[in-house]
Amino acid sequence: MNKSILGIHHVTAISGPAHENFKFYTETLGLRLVKRTVNFDDPGVYHLYYGDETGSPGTLMTFFPYGGAPGDKGTGQVVASSYPVENLEVWKQRLGVPYRSEVRFGQEYVIFEDPHGMTLELYESKSAPPTLGPIGGATLKLKSTAPTAELLKLMGFEEEGRENARARYRLKGSGDYLDLEQSDEPSTRGGAGTVHHIALRVADDEAQAHWRNKLIKAGYQVSPVMDRNYFHSIYFRGPGGVLFELATDPPGMMIDESVEELGEKLVLPPQYEPHREGIEAVLDPLEEPYKFAETSGQGDLVVALHGTGGDEYDLLSLVAEVAPGKPVLSLRGNVKERGARRFFRRLQAGVFDEDDLRQRATELAKFLERHPGPRVAVGYSNGANMAAATLLEEADSFDKAILFRPMLGWEPGPADLSGKQILLLIGRDDRIVSPEAGEKLAEVFRERGAEVEVRQVPTGHNLTRQDVEIARRWLSSSRETLKSIA
Ligand code: ZN
Repeated sequence: MNKSILGIHHVTAISGPAHENFKFYTETLGLRLVKRTVNFDDPGVYHLYYGDETGSPGTLMTFFPYGGAPGDKGTGQVVASSYPVENLEVWKQRLGVPYRSEVRFGQEYVIFEDPHGMTLELYESKSAPPTLGPIGGATLKLKSTAPTAELLKLMGFEEEGRENARARYRLKGSGDYLDLEQSDEPSTRGGAGTVHHIALRVADDEAQAHWRNKLIKAGYQVSPVMDRNYFHSIYFRGPGGVLFELATDPPGMMIDESVEELGEKLVLPPQYEPHREGIEAVLDPLEEPYKFAETSGQGDLVVALHGTGGDEYDLLSLVAEVAPGKPVLSLRGNVKERGARRFFRRLQAGVFDEDDLRQRATELAKFLERHPGPRVAVGYSNGANMAAATLLEEADSFDKAILFRPMLGWEPGPADLSGKQILLLIGRDDRIVSPEAGEKLAEVFRERGAEVEVRQVPTGHNLTRQDVEIARRWLSSSRETLKSIA
C-alpha cells in the first residue's frame, strides 16, 4: 500500500456572503460547485466545495461563508493558494478582476483576490488541464520557517530552492509544493477571506493511521479520526500555527450524489435531515433567483415587476417616467405559464396558488436584501400582486409601492406596514381585475397601518398616460423614507 502523502487534498477558508462566493468560484474561475452542504458542527452555515467536474481530491477549495469582519493575513496561516493553468495570457484576459504579476523561481504568477479578500494565484504549467482544477501549491506565512520545514520534510517534501524570504518545498511524486515565507508580521486573526486549514491527501485509512502515529511520535497533538462524510480526517497544528489536516481520498464526493447531480441540491448528513426546512430557511440562496435588468441613478432603488407575459425590459421606459433619475432593478418573473413569464403560479385565471405565492414572496424579500434600500416597488398586474404579497409577508422588502391594477387574491401575510406609502391604480373598466378586488387590497394595507392612496383611472387593464402622470406626481410628492433621510 502507498502510505505516502500524495499532495494537496483541499483548502478550507472563511468567506463573506455565500452567493458572492458562489458567483466568483463558478463564474469567474469556472470551477464546479461539487458539494452544497452545511458545516457539520454548525448547520446554520453552508459548507461549499468547489472543484473539478468530479470533485477529485486535490481540486477542492471549500468555504464556510460566515461573513462577518474580514480577517487579516498575518503569520501562522496559509496566505495564498495557487492553481496551474495552461495559458496565463488567456487567464489575464478573462479574469475580469484586478491582478498583479510577480516572478518567483523563474515563473510568472498572476495574483488576485476573491470577493472577500482571499488571495489566489495562477501560474502556467504544461501539465495543467484546460480548465481550473488541481490546486498546485500554497504559501504559508510564518514568523520562523525552520520548524515547519522540518514538518514538511517529515511528510515527504523536499526543499527545492530559496528566493528572498521564500523557501519552496515540493512533494516527491505529486509535484505539489508549499512555499514557506518568512515574515515578522503579527500572527493572523481569522475572518472572512482567510484560510482556515490546508489538507493533504492520503490514500486510505491505513495510510492515515500510519501518519497519525508518526506525527504523534514526532510530538504533534493529532486529533482522532473524524468522519467528514466525503473523507476521513485528522488535524494537527504545525509549529508555526498553521492548521493541517490529512484527509483520505475515499469515499469522495460521489458517496451521496451522482456525478451529474454534484452540487445541485443541499445535501445534509443524516442527523440534520429532520431539520432540513429550518436549515434551508436560514441559508442564503446561492443562485440569483431572478434575471434582471439594471440602470444606475440616484436615490431610492426602484424595483420593477412586470405583468404576465412581460420581461425585465417591459417596464423600463415606464419607470424612467415615473421615477426619473432613480436606480432601477427590473426583475424577470421566474415562473412560466404556457410560455408567459410570471412571478408566481396560479391554478386558473384569478385563482392564485397561495403556497407558491407565499414562498416566492419570501424568496423575493431575501433576494432584495442583496440590494440595499430604501426600495420602491413598481408593479403591473401580476408584478403588482407579487410586490403586494411580498410587502405583506416581509415589511422590510419595500418602503413604498406603486401598484398598477393589483387585486387581493390570497390570504394576506402578517406584516405591520406602518410608515409604508402605497399607491394603487385601479382601472375603472378593468375586466381582468375587478375594481373591487383592488379596493380590497387597499383595505388590507390600511388595516396594517400603511398610508394608502387609491386612484381609479377611466380605462381597463391597460396602462394609460394618466396612470403614468398620477404615479410620477405621487412619487415625487411622497415623503422621503426615513432610511433615505438617515
Ligand atoms: Zn478540511
